[in-house]
Amino acid sequence: MMRTLAACTLLLALAAPAAAQQAPASGQRPQRLIVRNATIIDGNGTPASGPADIVVDGDTISRIVWLDPVAVRSGTARRPAGGAGTAEIDATGKYVLPGLINVHGHVQEERGGVPQPVDYELKLWLATGVTTVREVGTDSTARVLALRDRIARGEVAGPRLFVYARFHQGAGGAARTPEQARARVREIRALGADGIKAVGLDRDLMAAMLDEARKVGLRVAHHAGVEETNAWDDVRLGTTSIEHWYGIPDAAIPAGRQGFPADYNYRDETDRFRWAGRLWREADPDRLSALLDSMVAAGTAWVPTLVIYEASRDLQRAVTSPWFADYLHPTLERYFRPDPGHHGSYFIGWSSTDETYWKENYRIWMAALREFGRRGGLIGAGEDAGFIYQLYGFGLLRELELHQEAGFHPLKVIEHATGNNARILGEEGRLGRVRAGWAADLIVVDGNPLEDFKVLYPGGVPVMRDGRESRTNGIEWTIAAGVPYHVPTLLAEVRAIVADARRTPPP
Ligand SMILES: [Zn+2]
Repeated sequence: MMRTLAACTLLLALAAPAAAQQAPASGQRPQRLIVRNATIIDGNGTPASGPADIVVDGDTISRIVWLDPVAVRSGTARRPAGGAGTAEIDATGKYVLPGLINVHGHVQEERGGVPQPVDYELKLWLATGVTTVREVGTDSTARVLALRDRIARGEVAGPRLFVYARFHQGAGGAARTPEQARARVREIRALGADGIKAVGLDRDLMAAMLDEARKVGLRVAHHAGVEETNAWDDVRLGTTSIEHWYGIPDAAIPAGRQGFPADYNYRDETDRFRWAGRLWREADPDRLSALLDSMVAAGTAWVPTLVIYEASRDLQRAVTSPWFADYLHPTLERYFRPDPGHHGSYFIGWSSTDETYWKENYRIWMAALREFGRRGGLIGAGEDAGFIYQLYGFGLLRELELHQEAGFHPLKVIEHATGNNARILGEEGRLGRVRAGWAADLIVVDGNPLEDFKVLYPGGVPVMRDGRESRTNGIEWTIAAGVPYHVPTLLAEVRAIVADARRTPPP
């Protein structure tokens, strides 16, 4: 009797169709979406595993059904049923990862005063697998907050945004006293921002800002410059994440200040970036080691944005990126040209000597990052695109390669850009995993990123198939909050935006 019942249940399960369901329409959320036969790389550093069917109901992963590979081969695997309103993606031979999180992004409505369509950035992010962006500083916080809400309501196609409003001291209504710093924090809270991006701080204002931020429950991303404060202040006062790297080697220089030449001027960007390339070499290894331990103990995360300085160590590579041909908006193209009037466009007279110092700078920086990770430090991945020859989304993919170059296993690299980034946002219970109950933010990749991160780039990589050269498809689908986006369609839309803008170039 028991045996008969079990056999009947099995037959019912077998009756469920395992294939030939309708493919999803790009940009429309089906009632139910099933990603079939996927090899999953989760965002928590665990090994790839599969095949599995991933069931998405609405904007949430509702079930993951692990399939016995032998049963899949013989056609007797128990698959979740489809039914009306169901769309399916066949991920046979494909890898499925959590949607990438970019914790250092900028929504840019203009470059150098020339308008640039936000749609261009949002679509590039989706097309490169980015389903969440921590927006760390815009000149139009109110508009970007409105954009965040429109994306959340499904009115605009884009990654979910967490908006960190800029906190400056000094200029333009920004804080000059600790009391004003506290008031500015409360103002940012009242605006509805998700956190604070702090730039350039004196110690008294930084202490007041971080104390008030803790009281009102806002996280703080700190872009330190070469300033009065350094990473010891971040550790002591409770910064959520240190952006880039300034403030870390500075905190380990025995003399307390880098050995600048007499004619150095911090406001001159060529000076600033040239001497930044000679900063890590001055850090004392023992002091640096103690600092990294303190950052780990304090839970201070590090978002190194290795990619945004890469032009400094290899300018030609940055200037001749192959994707510029199809995807570089003319506004950005103009903005990237060396020009003292544009932030980060400092490459006038950039020499082989500068690049050589920067290559050494990277070696020490990457070793410190690797050591921080080895000791349990929380490392995130961000790109800072829109500056210094970096394109939205492409920058984050390159960042993954650079984390690998720093010495991390590809599984850890993926964890940096997914699970760790979710933790930096305080969203680890909802984002950054392929797990039932988590947001349905997923990417379906043609190729194994653990073998080669380049399979993630639009256009894929060249491969030999049946003795002939062809290309892989890159990311085929980006699923953001349960909405599947067909990446080749998105890329065609971006190419059209760029081609159209090139016909009427900016002044
Ligand atoms: Zn930035």
